[in-house]
Amino acid sequence: METYLGLDLGGTKLLIGEVDAYGNILRYKRYDSGFFNQKAAFDIIRRSMDDYVANVGWVGEKPVAMGVGLIGRVDPNRGIWLQIDPHRTESIALADELTALYGIPCRIDNDVKSATRAERVWGVGQFSKDFVYINVGTGIAVGTVVGGRQIRGSHFNAGEAGHMRVGVNVGVPCACGRTDCVETIASGSGIDRCARLLKDRYETRLTFPPEGEKRVSVEEVVTLSQAGDPLCSVLVTNAAEGIANLIMNMVRVTDPDTVVLGGSIVANEYVFERIQACLNQNTMRFVTHGVVLTKLNPQFVGLLGAAAVAMNK
Ligand SMILES: [Zn+2]
Repeated sequence: METYLGLDLGGTKLLIGEVDAYGNILRYKRYDSGFFNQKAAFDIIRRSMDDYVANVGWVGEKPVAMGVGLIGRVDPNRGIWLQIDPHRTESIALADELTALYGIPCRIDNDVKSATRAERVWGVGQFSKDFVYINVGTGIAVGTVVGGRQIRGSHFNAGEAGHMRVGVNVGVPCACGRTDCVETIASGSGIDRCARLLKDRYETRLTFPPEGEKRVSVEEVVTLSQAGDPLCSVLVTNAAEGIANLIMNMVRVTDPDTVVLGGSIVANEYVFERIQACLNQNTMRFVTHGVVLTKLNPQFVGLLGAAAVAMNK
């Protein structure tokens, strides 16, 4: 049986696992990450891989290939991790380094583009050649598939749609230099920032952990908003409107027949319904398969994406 090794590197954890061609996860192990730059991340990958090889091992023969899903800008053709964030430029030839270290051909890609690959292979790609994958997690990013091919752009920077403005005006400055980008309104980090910015203007029972240490709980925001908490109601209304406008903007740009949502925030049933309620039916008339939640296990979409990168799909 041919298997593929996936490495899903996030801000807090690294998930390593072996996946078969049908998208079944055969075995996996989770490692703590928490890195500040690409070199430190590379060390974490190496240490964790050494442990995985020694203590978990392969299901059968060596995996055919390995794939890594990464934060930031990635050149998948040359296997170069260009940037972890816009303020750092220390590109590393990660694919070649890992291929040499472990003797398994390695490919790499950005995490949301990897998740979009998993959708193409095992998700909505089975019935759609034109879809948009919108990931709403700590940040917001979009994978766009047109005619079966994912759009990447001239600098592998396509899909940074979290930095679109969406008609919700709160006055939150974004790291990109603009104000009120949808990521500052509707992502996990954005909801935290909006909550702190607006907390003196609306009454609330929301818990505020020390700023910079821990974010407000989106789950708590949603639960309190359903109970009529004034601040949390504003936060959820803004987030739902922001995501709905982002969806409709993307629909106007590439004419997809399906919009897939992924990430913990949109997986919440109440938030998902609120987003649906903000969609304009005329704008959405050609989205024949509708706006759907990903069918891929949200805990493992990154790992499946990395395996799809390994398969080079
Ligand atoms: Zn921005």
